[in-house]
Amino acid sequence: MRRILFESLLKPPLTEPSPGPDEGALAELAGNVERAARRRLGRSLSIREVDAGSCNGCELEIHALNNPFYDLERFGLKFVASPRHADVLMVTGPVTQNMREALERTYAATPDPKWVVAVGDCAFDAGLFAGAYAVAGGVDAVIPVDLHIKGCPPSPVQLLQGLLALLERVA
Ligand code: SF4
Repeated sequence: MRRILFESLLKPPLTEPSPGPDEGALAELAGNVERAARRRLGRSLSIREVDAGSCNGCELEIHALNNPFYDLERFGLKFVASPRHADVLMVTGPVTQNMREALERTYAATPDPKWVVAVGDCAFDAGLFAGAYAVAGGVDAVIPVDLHIKGCPPSPVQLLQGLLALLERVA
């Protein structure tokens, strides 16, 4: 036992090295989202994340947008704590029966103009959970959806590409 402990102090970590950052491409994509937000809204973009019943896989990718690697706030994109301060509701699903009313009330509390982005395959059509007794369906079974970002889960870069597509579509 003592030998194993001693060896573990000397050995390097067994985790794989992280992939090399494509910092330039990421900065360009996030910068495009920021510029599109300022052009369309006249200010930066505020996002409220709503977990309507997901497995939390999609949340991990969404939270990654705020970590030191992606650091979205440097581009003026920020997550807010209240739907009353949000432009975009980023909803992960499927929508469970328990969360249905909460989602409807969150949508009603978000000021116009507002956009709903359904994140992940479950938010699209309930995915693996379709037909389950506790599931109301995908997000558009409960509130109107402006954009689906598919994937299980979608990566942070796909989330940024989706936000950019949404802003480009906003008249
Ligand atoms: S799409 Fe995948 S990661 Fe996201 S909530 Fe559904 S099962 Fe989880």
